[in-house]
Amino acid sequence: DSFDQLGLNDKILKNLSQAGYEKPSPIQAELIPIAVTGKDCIGQARTGTGKTAAFSLPILQQIDLRRPGIQALILAPTRELSEQVAAEIRKLCPSKSLSLAVLVGGKPVRPQENQLKKGAQIAVGTPGRVIDHINRGNLKLSTLRFAVLDEADRMLDIGFRPDIEKILRKCPKERQTLLLSATLPPPVERLAQRYMNEPVMIDL
Ligand code: AMP
Repeated sequence: DSFDQLGLNDKILKNLSQAGYEKPSPIQAELIPIAVTGKDCIGQARTGTGKTAAFSLPILQQIDLRRPGIQALILAPTRELSEQVAAEIRKLCPSKSLSLAVLVGGKPVRPQENQLKKGAQIAVGTPGRVIDHINRGNLKLSTLRFAVLDEADRMLDIGFRPDIEKILRKCPKERQTLLLSATLPPPVERLAQRYMNEPVMIDL
């Protein structure tokens, strides 16, 4: 078991070895080969399993770093998790061409707005603040190609369902959607059914 059988390109494999990642975790070994083909996936995985790299690597492989503007949006339940996800993506893709925006509540809006104006290709954030940036006209989703719902069960528990639905309805229909969740209760399944396209289920 190594990363080179998962459909990842040489550039990414080099970054992985530089980050010190030698072997894929189980969720990475299962999810990456399917997600790199562009298919929607539901991954049942909790924190600490390597789920962040599992959904980030297929996106990093598919986004166009020569082009500025939002291509991927990752929604997470908390500020802390959003910041961890952004740090992990940065670790996996140290390229200067990759620009990230972290859109979380409890922090000033203006620096986040500036990150978006600078042409961030990936935005990571909590649903409330993401909506806020959409409403202010800072975040336009017409160029989006990838959406991730990280810790979907926790986001629904917190009450983010209306915000998540509002955001997903603004995303182009032609996109890849990845959903990660520790548990898959009916509300998470309903969300997947409404907003994902024939998702492949990955449970370990
Ligand atoms: P996560 O479950 O995504 O929060 O990841 C947990 C921790 O494991 C993070 O600190 C990652 O940087 C690290 N990690 C993820 N995948 C690997 C891997 N294949 N090899 C070594 N460390 C990893």
